[in-house]
Amino acid sequence: MKRKKCISCKCRKVTEAFSKDRQNADGLRHYCRDCVSKRYSKTDKYRKRRLDYYKAHKQQYKDYYKRNRNYHTQKSYEWAALNPEKVKTASRKMIEKYKIQRPGMSAHNTRLSELRRHKTRSNCVPKWLTKDQLKTMEQIYAFRAIQQMESPVLLHVDHIIPIHGTEVCGLHVPWNLQIITASDNCKKSNKIL
Ligand SMILES: [Zn+2]
Repeated sequence: MKRKKCISCKCRKVTEAFSKDRQNADGLRHYCRDCVSKRYSKTDKYRKRRLDYYKAHKQQYKDYYKRNRNYHTQKSYEWAALNPEKVKTASRKMIEKYKIQRPGMSAHNTRLSELRRHKTRSNCVPKWLTKDQLKTMEQIYAFRAIQQMESPVLLHVDHIIPIHGTEVCGLHVPWNLQIITASDNCKKSNKIL
């Protein structure tokens, strides 16, 4: 029976004790199966320890950032001044990304409207909403995506009572959502029909 020496534990073991590796001349790994699994369990242990540590000190990291926010913003501005080329390529990348997502709209505006929308929407989610109701809303958005695949016109999920409204402010709740065409939604804007 053929045997091979493991380079880690220096034991001579049968070839079945090694997993395959086509890059090696004999088609087997240099480490035996036992050594490989031992090694991985070790890295797993360290990874878990690191994550646990991070979890335990999460608040500390957050507080640190809050205290030193100005310092870090200052630093990043300094870095940007020293690396104009890197900043340029990064912003170009971002513009390309948003161009693909929304053709015909400037990247800056897309980002702004996205931020604003996200902010208002999360402000309009009442705290008493149950998990099921949140899930229902997710399903409405998913349903729109499915309908979109078959629909020739662009569809939007609309708030029946607008959450940007000037007179009244609607809520981001399942019973305030409806799927309508994009053109209808744009005509409607933030008015109640
Ligand atoms: Zn070994």
